[in-house]
Amino acid sequence: MQYIVLDLEWNQPVSYQSSAYRKVGDRLLFEVIQFGAAKLNEKFEIVDTISVPVRPTHYLTIHPRVKRMTGLSSEVLCDAPEFAEGFTAFMDWCGDDFVFLTWGCDDVSVLQQNVDFFRVERELPKMYDIQRLYAAAVGKSGQTALKTAMETLEVQVEEERTFHNAMHDAYYTAEVFRRLPKPMDVFKYEEQPKKLCHNERRSKFRVTDTVASVREAMESEKLVSPVCPTCGKPTKRQTELVPQAPGKYVALSKCQNHGVMFVKVRFSELPDGQKGMHLSVLPASHQNRAYVHTKELQYQLKRKRGDYDSFDVEDLSDTFMSNMPFEDA
Ligand SMILES: [Zn+2]
Repeated sequence: MQYIVLDLEWNQPVSYQSSAYRKVGDRLLFEVIQFGAAKLNEKFEIVDTISVPVRPTHYLTIHPRVKRMTGLSSEVLCDAPEFAEGFTAFMDWCGDDFVFLTWGCDDVSVLQQNVDFFRVERELPKMYDIQRLYAAAVGKSGQTALKTAMETLEVQVEEERTFHNAMHDAYYTAEVFRRLPKPMDVFKYEEQPKKLCHNERRSKFRVTDTVASVREAMESEKLVSPVCPTCGKPTKRQTELVPQAPGKYVALSKCQNHGVMFVKVRFSELPDGQKGMHLSVLPASHQNRAYVHTKELQYQLKRKRGDYDSFDVEDLSDTFMSNMPFEDA
């Protein structure tokens, strides 16, 4: 039997308002654009690796973040096979007797959804989770990033094997796997693909953008000079983005033609590891202005006092606990 350490790269809707997303909704949240794998024999030696790029047929625009991270663009993928063909080629490479091993459960869920969506009639093998084996082996609970596991087990990063390439990530995962004291124990951690249904969380509040990090979003054009809802021109921010609660910020921003705008932005943790952002820009009332100015002063004072020293802008774990509507002062 062969161990196939599998890693996928996938594309996602550029926006959840896009017609491409609305056409299929949760039936296809992520579209596979690369299969990567490392094959191990029964002695846990890596005997082969493979990369099978896949041309998306549904989400044709590669999300900018996906493109940046994976280097996969429409141009790169334009000659690649479509899912069914790519998957078949990949499965043929796997052989007759094999299991899939992945790092965490995301890949198997995405794979299952793509197999169902594209109606590929080929049964998936049993799938097991190396991440949970790793956690048990090192006595950790919860999820660990692959990079952290590599450091712990002293897996060298090789210059030509860049991260976020499915084949290289699979290779590194295989290296982690074979260094664990009892790789065989991976059979204790069978994976069941989960139904991908991101709307459950998204429906709690509207997501107008997905962003890689809060910090990155805060420095982006969208928040540095939010667009005026009336004329569509960039406004000039008059205050900082003042935190109200984890993941919730307010600010004032001025349009040359339409006056001061009340900017509200909130972030949430999305199940795919990204952050959802919802931005609203509306003409500011007197109360809005007074409210933001007061909050900004309080914030600056508290910050000076060191109250915000341990404030982590990326920590959104409480946002759903305090999922209150915005304070519209
Ligand atoms: Zn304007």
